[in-house]
Amino acid sequence: MPRRRETAHADVGVGPHGAVFLDRDGVITTQGTHVNRPDDLELVDGAGPAIARLNRAGIRVVVVTNQGGIALGHLTEETLGAIHDRMRRDLARDSARVDAIYYCPHHERATVTAYLAECSCRKPGTAMLERARDELGIDLRESVIVGDSTSDILAGIRAGCATILVRTGFGGEDGKCTVEPDAIIDNLPAAVDRILVDRPTTRARTAAAPGA
Ligand SMILES: [Zn+2]
Repeated sequence: MPRRRETAHADVGVGPHGAVFLDRDGVITTQGTHVNRPDDLELVDGAGPAIARLNRAGIRVVVVTNQGGIALGHLTEETLGAIHDRMRRDLARDSARVDAIYYCPHHERATVTAYLAECSCRKPGTAMLERARDELGIDLRESVIVGDSTSDILAGIRAGCATILVRTGFGGEDGKCTVEPDAIIDNLPAAVDRILVDRPTTRARTAAAPGA
């Protein structure tokens, strides 16, 4: 169980060069069963309007998602593309869009050998965040990650982002890592409320943990 940081109101705002990184399953979409087909996809209540508010505020939104099911043979990258097309269409109904989607197809117990890897992109690895930094010109220290899993939070801490754990999906009960998110908030819409209240931020975060 993650512990709440002692600070009453940690700054989870986004700077002018920052972005909001969102985990997919359990944050934007309901966790439920694994999403292996486009029809499995279901948005969390209010996710579309929440993302649309970030869009209107000029804040970039980037999805970072572990999709080890590809390595385990549950779905192909082509199917994942179709699932993400569906997600983009569903979000567009609320005039919401994501600026980019990064996924990790690897798994250390892969049955599809092409994806067998202990990679640096699978969260809590930081390679997806670093790729977004390099490709989109994002300052990770002005960014925040919203996740339902402790591995999302640890990836964000390692990369120097502010971190918000939401209570949807795993709600931090995945038991993978011991982490202290900057804030624990009910769901994505409430997390966006908080991000917008804290914006613009001028914080300068301390260096990320060694090994980040
Ligand atoms: Zn990977």
